[in-house]
Amino acid sequence: MNADLHCHSTISDGLLAPREVVRRAYANGVELLALTDHDEISGLVEARAEAVACGLRFVNGVEVSVSWGDQTVHIVGLGFDATDPALLAGLQQVRSGRDERARCMSEGLAAIGIRGVLEGAQRYVGNPALVSRAHFARYLVEIGIARDMPNVFEHYLVRGKPGFVEHEWASLEDALGWIHGAGGLAVIAHPGRTRLAKSEMPKLFERFKALGGEAIEVVSGSQSGPDALEYARVARRYGFLASRASDFHGPGESPVDLGRAEILPPDLTPVWERLV
Ligand code: AMP
Ligand code: MN
Ligand code: MN
Ligand code: MN
Repeated sequence: MNADLHCHSTISDGLLAPREVVRRAYANGVELLALTDHDEISGLVEARAEAVACGLRFVNGVEVSVSWGDQTVHIVGLGFDATDPALLAGLQQVRSGRDERARCMSEGLAAIGIRGVLEGAQRYVGNPALVSRAHFARYLVEIGIARDMPNVFEHYLVRGKPGFVEHEWASLEDALGWIHGAGGLAVIAHPGRTRLAKSEMPKLFERFKALGGEAIEVVSGSQSGPDALEYARVARRYGFLASRASDFHGPGESPVDLGRAEILPPDLTPVWERLV
């Protein structure tokens, strides 16, 4: 089955509207899609309506920003009730710090002579409640500060660089509590992209497992090919279900298009067996 269980729309930091994401997924041969905007689920109604119109199977999704020690980890929720009040309130709380963070990021960049970045980034923002580093990065590329998004991140938007601001996201406990409370499954997103030391990863997997976390993205457009072998081993060792995802943000920007991620190793149990 061509399942793609992690991608973004203009409701967070993607380039396409929810309905356009669904149409592109359908055109690319996706058979089961989850839209997983950052900390925000207001695109799901539009996406689902378009999926019904196309005849494409759709599951509700979200990508929750989580603080784990001094690092950020992303947890995808799948197949939850999108009207669940605790989930909605939790996500609202996670989003609420983003405006102040964005102001501080802009101040940090102004301090090295790059002015007006918040205003510039805002032209790329599709949802005023969700300003992301990706919007900053697009504007910084536009004005020629760096040649592409990965370069902007490396030099301006990661810890120790002028546009980086420390931020407290959700706790792992809260994120899994909201997802499970709404009847969903929890998935560790792109484990190969977390900046945790390799020796620190088992603590995350053990805690996630102890909290009832179900799955891990073995294949993600946001991690390298060899990472899939490593996280397949993790899935086997911890008994996690396996997910497959493009983490698509937009044409011309994302390395992997909707539905075009590698397939899962055949011995793993796909998370979608629990979703359809
Ligand atoms: P934020 O949630 O505001 O911290 O923004 C995180 C988003 O920035 C991610 O979801 C990606 O869309 C984007 N991002 C993070 N790191 C990189 C990178 N190295 N290259 C390109 N985009 C990145
Ligand atoms: Mn993103
Ligand atoms: Mn992510
Ligand atoms: Mn993502």
